[in-house]
Parts: sequence; structure tokens; C-alpha cells
Amino acid sequence: MSSAPYRRVIVKLSGEALAGAEPHGIDLDTIDRFAADLIAAQALGVTLGVVVGGGNLLRGATAAAHGADRTIADVMGMLATVMNALALESAIERLGGRARTVSAIAMPQVCETYERRAARRHLDDGRIVLFAAGTGNPFFTTDTTAVLRAAEMGAQAVLKATNVDGVYSADPKRDPAAVRYDRLGLDEAIEKRLGVMDLTAFSLARDHRIPIIVFSIREPGAIESVLRGAGRATIVGG
Ligand code: UDP
Repeated sequence: MSSAPYRRVIVKLSGEALAGAEPHGIDLDTIDRFAADLIAAQALGVTLGVVVGGGNLLRGATAAAHGADRTIADVMGMLATVMNALALESAIERLGGRARTVSAIAMPQVCETYERRAARRHLDDGRIVLFAAGTGNPFFTTDTTAVLRAAEMGAQAVLKATNVDGVYSADPKRDPAAVRYDRLGLDEAIEKRLGVMDLTAFSLARDHRIPIIVFSIREPGAIESVLRGAGRATIVGG
């Protein structure tokens, strides 16, 4: 029986988090730590999907600002998420867990192509499903992908891992008067343009009543703590 309030969640890991202390690239020690955290979280009886970002390798908007065609740049960004997902898949399996990367862009020699029912079956069978290549479309983000996959997979929440312990009224590094929220409505997050997620992700979450739980991934075991309702986090919506 599950000891956590959620039966199924989608964890959003940003590319930045996968770089560890480095500004870019994939930090394999950090990947190992996240893999161990995911396996520990799953042991609570929760089925886990993970949407991985790609900002540690390439962001479409940045490449477009340097003159690249935006749609091509976004495809490059989506391919970056596949590398991250494969690194995480390999770490989870090495540590004794079971994982499956599914990509929204078909690349059958590399991994399975995303198909909703097959992905749900993997989750039901206890695999950690790594959703790669975002939505498969340019002009979207992996935050939007996380909410989309949560809706498709029947997840009760999106756990958005960040470098801070929740949502603040302003950037706490720049504004000492910034206030941290424990709970926040999705309408309020949208109106205040709090910048935790893009508006497409927020409005999809609002339409489908999917709460977004924002927490810091810095401490080992952070995902498990949030699932137990023990860690510091801001619950947006729900
Ligand atoms: N991307 C995209 N469509 C999607 C998801 C992602 O085109 O559905 C591209 C986009 O260029 C984005 C990059 O992939 O900049 C990496 O994703 P994101 O910026 O969301 O990663 P994160 O900030 O979480 O590391």
C-alpha cells in the first residue's frame, strides 16, 4: 500500500539540475544521485514518470537568438533532452531500478517512441518512465510537457524540482523582502506572473486541476520527502 498521498506523479527535472555544480553538460554523479532518489521515491508505492529538460545542453530560444532557425533550434533542444533521459535511464538500471525512455520524436534505434497506452502500461508495471523530446513540437517547453504527460498518464501532481525550496513573491537572491508561499492558487500564479513555469504549462495545469509542487532537489532524498508531505515545498493549485 502507498504511504504517500499520491499514487502517480510526474517529476520535472530541469537540464540545469542535471549539470550539478557545472554551468553546462551532464554531471554523472548528479545523475546517479537523482536516479537513487527516484528509486527511493518509487519504494513508497508511487508510480513515477520523469520529464527531463535540456537546458544544460541547449535551449532553442538561446540558439535562435544567435541566428539559428527557431524550429531547428527547438529540435536541437528536444534532442538534448533525449541525451539527458538516456543518462538517467542508464543510471537507474545500474542502481537496480527499472526504467524506460520514451521519446516524442521517433528514433527507434535509440529508444521507444512515445505512445500513451504503452507508456501507461510501463508505469503500471512499475517502470520509471522517462519522457524525452518534450512534446515533440517546437515552441513548447518541458514544463508544459510535464503537465501534458501528467494529464495523459492520470498523474495526481507534477513535482517540479528546482534550486530553491518553493515559490517566492520575487527572486530571493535579489530581493531580501521576497516572501515564500506554502500554497498558491494557479490563477494567482498566472496573474502575478511568478515565472516558476510558463503560462502554457500553468493554464494546462489549471484546466486539468493538476497541482504543481515546487521544491528544491539539492538535498538527497528530496523527492521522497515531498511525496511523504515532509519536505519544504510550495503547492501551486490543487
Ligand atoms: N523543446 C521544444 N518543445 C518541447 C519541449 C522542449 O522545442 O515540447 C526544446 C526547446 O528548445 C527548449 C529545449 O527543448 O529550450 C529544452 O527544454 P527546456 O528549455 O524546457 O529545458 P529545461 O529548462 O527544463 O532544462
